[in-house]
Amino acid sequence: MTLHRPRRVLATKADRQMWSYLVHGELRLQRCAKCRAYRFPPAGVCEACLSEDWTWEATAGEGTVLSWVTYHRAYFPMIECPYTVVVAQTPEGVPLTADYVGDAGALATGDHVVLQYDDATFDDDGGSSKLYRWSSV
Ligand SMILES: [Zn+2]
Repeated sequence: MTLHRPRRVLATKADRQMWSYLVHGELRLQRCAKCRAYRFPPAGVCEACLSEDWTWEATAGEGTVLSWVTYHRAYFPMIECPYTVVVAQTPEGVPLTADYVGDAGALATGDHVVLQYDDATFDDDGGSSKLYRWSSV
C-alpha cells in the first residue's frame, strides 16, 4: 500500500513524533502532562487546558464504532475506490478516524473494532512505515 504524507516542511513536532512510533507499528496517543487528557490527531497544545507539555502513551488498539462513510471518489490517485473510513471511540476517550478493512455493509454503530497495522510505502521518498486501520473482530 502507498501512503501520501504531508510535506515534511509542514509537519509539526507532534506529527513527526507520531510517525516515529508508527514506523515500528505502534500508534501512540498524546496525553496532556497537566490535565491528563488524551488527544488525537497530534497537536502542539492541549485543547482542554492549553498546556504545551505532553507524553506519548500506547493506545489499547480498540474502539467502538461511532460512524463511518464509504467514499466512491479518490482524493489521492493511489487510493482504490470504494473505501471506507470509520470513526471509533477508543477506551482512552479519543474518537479515532482510520480506514476500515472489512465488509462495510456489515458495519453497525457500537461494533467493536481493533487496529491493525499494515506495511506502507510513502509516495514522496519511497520510505516505509505502518498504516493503522480499523478492522472487525
Ligand atoms: Zn490539558
